[in-house]
Amino acid sequence: MFDSLSDKLDKALHVLKGHGSITEVNVAETLKEVRRALLDADVNFKIAKEFTNTVKEKALGQNVLTTLQPGQLMVKLVKDELTELMGGDAEGLNLSGNPSIILMSGLQGSGKTTFSGKLANFLKTKKSKKPLLVACDVYRPAAINQLHVVGDQVGVEVYSEEGNMNPVEIAQNAIAHAKQNGHNVIIVDTAGRLAVDEEMMTEIANVHKAIDPQETLFVVDAMTGQDAVNTAKAFNDRLNFEGVVLTKLDGDTRGGAAISIKSVVNKPIKFIGTGEKMDAIDVFYPSRMADRILG
Ligand code: GDP
Repeated sequence: MFDSLSDKLDKALHVLKGHGSITEVNVAETLKEVRRALLDADVNFKIAKEFTNTVKEKALGQNVLTTLQPGQLMVKLVKDELTELMGGDAEGLNLSGNPSIILMSGLQGSGKTTFSGKLANFLKTKKSKKPLLVACDVYRPAAINQLHVVGDQVGVEVYSEEGNMNPVEIAQNAIAHAKQNGHNVIIVDTAGRLAVDEEMMTEIANVHKAIDPQETLFVVDAMTGQDAVNTAKAFNDRLNFEGVVLTKLDGDTRGGAAISIKSVVNKPIKFIGTGEKMDAIDVFYPSRMADRILG
């Protein structure tokens, strides 16, 4: 993944890596390449520009031109700045509730249901939790079935109510069920639409208000590029979510979404999805992602 961004940055930085001494023109040219690579990877124009300006300032501030190995220093500056831009240190989940409530939000097809299963599996196997999956997509029976299939795959109970069209009620009943049955984490899967619309936003905002989750996660398909940023902004304006899940990073995906979303909504990316299987989940580490992007 990120081949194109990685390759381009590599090429751009290669010029510096090989140089014993470089000029300010070299730095400017390299940063231009870096910026082009970021734009090609769907990073928002303003963010890419700010990024290269910051790196340039730091490079000049550290007298990069007069150091013995300016190339290495530039590579480090770019990498550090990219890491910072994507969120600095890895952030975990707040699981302090009893039970802890995690609300999934995002458009239809973004990977919410799949990720709900992955997260349940992750919390069960890696964090020794007893999760409960909750089906709140009341419009599509197929979505409820899908959550049951996923739950079966990972051996986690799924709470659903046939015929109940009120997601707020289902979510509240699920919390009572969890308390009665010793579940310490509840993962609420919600209905998404193909595009942001008022009805969907009102519905999820109502669920959010009623269950007051510790973590509202916004799930987004990394392949949707700039649209991912707009969708993230719309959901964040309404839900003020805690974190982002970037799915489908196994495909032919550019890394731009990771960089832009963090910059625009200023919320951490917490997890990534790297495949359709239930174990294709990773905690998001900005520094690892920066390494990966830079190659
Ligand atoms: P939802 O509508 O938001 O619940 O989305 P789904 O969970 O149904 O996912 C939509 C499609 O994307 C399904 O075919 C999933 O198998 C697929 N999918 C979800 N996450 C990933 C991922 O990380 N990588 C890949 N390759 N496919 C994914």
